[in-house]
Amino acid sequence: MKSLNLRPMQRPMDRRIAGRAQLDQILDPYELQQKPVNGTVCPQCGVVFRDGRWEWASKPLPQHAAKELCAACRRINERFPAGIVRLKGPFAREHRNEILAMARHQEEIEKKEHPLNRIMSIEEDADSLTINTTDIHLPRRIGETIKRTWRGKLDFAFEENGYFVRVNWSRE
Ligand SMILES: [Zn+2]
Repeated sequence: MKSLNLRPMQRPMDRRIAGRAQLDQILDPYELQQKPVNGTVCPQCGVVFRDGRWEWASKPLPQHAAKELCAACRRINERFPAGIVRLKGPFAREHRNEILAMARHQEEIEKKEHPLNRIMSIEEDADSLTINTTDIHLPRRIGETIKRTWRGKLDFAFEENGYFVRVNWSRE
C-alpha cells in the first residue's frame, strides 16, 4: 500500500454521508480522459467497453478488438484502492470468515451490474481486517450490510472532491 502514503490527501476528510447519486458525479481519475472505442476489451479481466460503459462480455470477442486496461485492473496493478473498509475489534477477528464471505457476496452482486467495482485485496493484522476496493460504492455497500447483520459502529469518510472513501466498522 505504499502508493497511498506517497499521495497525501488533498483536503481533510469529509465526514458527511453523501448519497449514491451524488457520488456518481465524482469521476474516477483512473477512468481514461479519452473514452475507449466501442468494443475495446480489457486484456486482464475481459470487460468490454460498449455504449459508453464497461460490461462483462456476453459472447466470444473478435480477435482484433482494441485492447486497453480498465480502471479496475489499473488500480489493482498499481495497488491503489479507491475505497478502504476497515473492520476493527475482537468481533471482526472472531467472525473473520463469515464477515469476509459476506463482503465477497456483496462484491458478486455489485460486480454483475458494475464490473469495475471490485475487491482488490484483503489485509489482516492483529486487530483488524482491511478490504481494499477499486471503487467508492462497494465499501459502503459492504459496510452497511455488515452493520445490518452484526450491528456495531459504522462511519464513512469521503474525500471531498476526490474519488476515495474510507469506511470504518467496529464492534467490541
Ligand atoms: Zn480489467
